[in-house]
Amino acid sequence: AWDRTLRTLANKYNKATFKNFLQALQPLSFDGTIIVFGAPSAFAREWSEKKYSQELRGYLEQHLDTTGLQLRFVTASSEVHPLLGEQPLPLQQAASPSAGAPPDRAAFSGIRDGIRPEVMPRRSEPAKESSRIVESNNPFSSELTSSALSDKYTFDNFVVGKSNRLAQAGAMAVAQGLGSTYNPLFLYGSPGLGKTHLMQAIGHYVRATLPHARVAYVSGETFTNHFVMALRDKRTEEFRRAYRNVDVWLVDDIQTIASKEQTKEEFFHTFNTLHQQNKQIVITSDRSPRELRLMDERLRSRFECGLIADISPPELEMRMAILQRKAILENLRIPDDVIAFMASLIQSNIRALEGALIKLMAYASLAKSPITKQLASDVLSSYFVERMPSFAPSPTDYVALRRPDTGSGAGAAVDIILDAAAAHMGVSKEMILNGGSRDKDVALARQICMYLCRELSKTPMSALAVTFGCKNHSAIAHAHSRMRGSLESDPKILAIIAGIRGAIEHSL
Ligand code: ADP
Ligand code: MG
Repeated sequence: AWDRTLRTLANKYNKATFKNFLQALQPLSFDGTIIVFGAPSAFAREWSEKKYSQELRGYLEQHLDTTGLQLRFVTASSEVHPLLGEQPLPLQQAASPSAGAPPDRAAFSGIRDGIRPEVMPRRSEPAKESSRIVESNNPFSSELTSSALSDKYTFDNFVVGKSNRLAQAGAMAVAQGLGSTYNPLFLYGSPGLGKTHLMQAIGHYVRATLPHARVAYVSGETFTNHFVMALRDKRTEEFRRAYRNVDVWLVDDIQTIASKEQTKEEFFHTFNTLHQQNKQIVITSDRSPRELRLMDERLRSRFECGLIADISPPELEMRMAILQRKAILENLRIPDDVIAFMASLIQSNIRALEGALIKLMAYASLAKSPITKQLASDVLSSYFVERMPSFAPSPTDYVALRRPDTGSGAGAAVDIILDAAAAHMGVSKEMILNGGSRDKDVALARQICMYLCRELSKTPMSALAVTFGCKNHSAIAHAHSRMRGSLESDPKILAIIAGIRGAIEHSL
């Protein structure tokens, strides 16, 4: 079963992850319920436990045709676990023996952090390594070169579309050309659109193709923290040496330093030093360089030899493609109508799209139910409310809802829904609330609003009845169940509701 599990996993993870973590696990014992795995280092143990245990359990239960397995992970270096005896551990073989050595292919993905110096054979260091070994005492240097990249953020896993084509092409060119194509590469766009993903993809690419290159991934915030620490501890020399000694500098979310004059100054110096040496610099930000006001005169000309690319929100087709891609990565089969539903529901942010998919997966597996549109609609309406607390009305909202003619806010959440629906369907709010109209569109808009208020606002039905001028709550309940039925059977209504919900999310 373990071999079969490994074979499945070999196709799911990149080679380095597979080799360093999964293949490195040794099944040590199995009593029918508890499987004990030996991991080659404390770091690998923690990591495997955190990242892979769920999935391993799933496959093992499947292959062993059982349930309720428990997985335990122990550190099984030769000192700790007698079962492994003297045999060299896979991780030690893979890892480079000198603590200060540059990353190599096998040590890819931050694994060097996990190599305990005690279990590593000491070897006399080659002369050319010596300057780096001295630097291994430099706290900044070791943090920079071991900066971990997320396994998921590779070029392979990045879906390309109109909204991110330039950014992706720029990133790929930079990863391949290092310093000789665009330098710096500046990527900007709203949160959750893939800036970090692309930036780390460059890092992965370089680490895989040029194992000795020093790739440093830091956020603007980390840079600031390091700099503040350096000032406080009078270690600015080490700080500078560390930062000016990298080959590829990835600076994520630089906007955080824009208001910090001294940090910004230091950033310019680092930038200039690296740029003069033709080291590749990649910067991301939620704003354009112009809006950022980072463009000091000194940098302006430098930016001209670089590339500035923005990423805009993905169109519907691309959102669907991204969901499909994630579903494949997760080994999930998701019906097309569910993909379409989710992609039209969540419009502006890929992170939110992923969050929704994860939530849906979790529910489906808990409920042991297949992923259907009904399930998606149930799960994602609560997802919506949780993510947007404004949709849980406050006590004053209830008061306002009971007396809709007083005060301006007839319940913030209800108001937002009405506005979005009115705009989306081209019907006025008054007509929706009035109810007397015989117009089919108005009647539909009214029912859709009742449905959405019930789904999204958690407002009591009796209060909604007052707002909509119904005799009692049963009119609301009726509209709700009717729309729920239509959502299943009528793609046009599904599209309208998804569109309104998208607009609501957008407006928040
Ligand atoms: P940002 O840094 O712009 O805020 P991230 O890079 O963190 O956004 O992306 C948010 C999430 O969306 C990540 O999990 C990322 O993998 C995913 N993502 C973004 N763009 C894409 C894309 N084009 N293809 C696949 N996944 C993407
Ligand atoms: Mg980011």
